[in-house]
Amino acid sequence: MIGVAILGSTGSIGDSTLDVLARHADRFRVVALAAHSSTAKLLAQCERFMPDYACLVEPSAAAELERALRARGSATRVLVGAAGLNEIATLSAAPYVMAGIVGAAGLESAFAAARAGKRLMIANKEPLVMAGELLIAEARAAGATLLPIDSEHNAIFQCLPRESETGRNPPGVRRILLTASGGPFIDWSRERLAKVTPAEACAHPKWVMGRKISVDSATLMNKGLEVIEARRLFGLAPEQVEVVVHRQSLVHSLVEYVDGSMLAQLGSPDMRTPIAHALGWPERLESGVQSLDLAAAGTLQFEPPDTDRFPCLALAQQAGRAGGLAPTVLNAANEVAVAAFLEGRLNFCGIPAVIESVLAAASTGSATDLGSILAADADARARAALEVRAR
Ligand code: MG
Repeated sequence: MIGVAILGSTGSIGDSTLDVLARHADRFRVVALAAHSSTAKLLAQCERFMPDYACLVEPSAAAELERALRARGSATRVLVGAAGLNEIATLSAAPYVMAGIVGAAGLESAFAAARAGKRLMIANKEPLVMAGELLIAEARAAGATLLPIDSEHNAIFQCLPRESETGRNPPGVRRILLTASGGPFIDWSRERLAKVTPAEACAHPKWVMGRKISVDSATLMNKGLEVIEARRLFGLAPEQVEVVVHRQSLVHSLVEYVDGSMLAQLGSPDMRTPIAHALGWPERLESGVQSLDLAAAGTLQFEPPDTDRFPCLALAQQAGRAGGLAPTVLNAANEVAVAAFLEGRLNFCGIPAVIESVLAAASTGSATDLGSILAADADARARAALEVRAR
């Protein structure tokens, strides 16, 4: 039995991971579950999967979970806070760790898992965007295996030569193409985009996701972060990563080789595919995902992205080329701007405007250690909050 820990078990990645694990109860055991503050949902997961440990970052939520589990006679031990997350990421009973905590909050626990030599299945973008080179170096030193869960990166991983090494330019590859659904506003005019509401931005046509990533998908920042993530993960030059809009979300990304061959990974848009791939790799596991009916799908369309209407993509590409701390600054400013948009304090077109100002004002050092990355993150958040207030 292989022990699995899930960081972010109450989010959509956590749900999908538990769904796949439940199909293979003879092969995997859920050792630990961690979430931010969803007590009721984590309690239900604990009752079903009976993990050794459960962690909530929010102390009062953790206390409530502790009371509820004790009242039910559960043997699950409750951990709390960032220290609890790190403990769960490094448990010797769980050699597989799913990192699915959204935002910069998932950074330290992902590093802890890498340093502990885990099979680290990365579903959150921030560790790779903010600290990709460091994370890959630490994972390599500790003998950890990094496997991408983000559907595009998992698709590319599947299309790359088997001998590729994380963070090193893969042999024979000319470029990769990241597909983008285009989000719910792909055909909207600039005027209409200015009036987008949070509810509209959170209703993604193809993927069911959390609110933050839904907004990122609508602004195309999600694709911009994925460009940075892909460059880090696969050791690619800026000109080797392109974005193509593909509305059907059936081709999850492509790799072009120097001989002109293009390999693509296709499938129903369901995160259980990349999750099952990473859990089983190099074997294949049943995931519960429906077969893709290509004849029913009919047409696959591809078109270039419009960075005039969706400037977040261009800002991310610019920050990715600048390198160093710029991707950290971009990510932090985006998190603050998206939160403000979701709370009705910033309009949709204010998101790229805030990010652009913060990027322009931030000092760009190199990302040599986690301390300097976290300091740049905090500084960019403070600047972004001021920018939001000034609008
Ligand atoms: Mg993705």
